Amino acid sequence: MQGKIIIIAAPSGAGKTTLVKRLVKACTQLEFAISACTREPRPGEENGKDYYFYKVDEFNKLIDKGAFVEWEMVYTGKYYGTLKSEFQRIWDEGKQPLVEIDVKGALNIKKEYQDNSLSIFIEAPLEVLQERLKMRGTESDEHLAERLEKAKFELSFATKFDKRVVNENIDTATAQLVQVVEDFLGE
Ligand code: 5GP
Repeated sequence: MQGKIIIIAAPSGAGKTTLVKRLVKACTQLEFAISACTREPRPGEENGKDYYFYKVDEFNKLIDKGAFVEWEMVYTGKYYGTLKSEFQRIWDEGKQPLVEIDVKGALNIKKEYQDNSLSIFIEAPLEVLQERLKMRGTESDEHLAERLEKAKFELSFATKFDKRVVNENIDTATAQLVQVVEDFLGE
């Protein structure tokens, strides 16, 4: 049986990782969906915990079998994807999968699971993104401008998501995020 899916995406600098960690702590029904990939495991990474690690030919066979909801070549020759079987594994445990993914991947999953998924876009006002990048003090003017352009581009996708959460204050944003997720799961 299919359950529900929570999909979260954000432009870089929006503070997504912290927010998502807080969300998973607050909503015990959620479990992170583990992605598949073809890169080598880094020291300390475990198969089936951090990723499902595959050889490229195995990954290609899975693509042919239609095993992925979405997949992308993120770096040259390195494939990453979300397995349908991962959602089923989590539903079978009586939990709901949470997918943290880039904007493109998020919208692809939403297309496949229109009725039982909630897509959430985490954003921050452009001035706040700019301020956060400046505070890091590591960006040259040129680099900063480039990152801001990228953030602006990513922000332009916000309206395609079911819900938007503005992360200006982390506590307020966490409360909002937990609320929209609980409303959806509680239906
Ligand atoms: P890393 O190799 O550093 O763990 O991840 C590299 C990139 O792969 C990240 O930017 C992440 O967004 C992307 N990625 C991880 N899992 C998936 C997935 O299931 N699907 C897609 N499309 N990208 C993914």
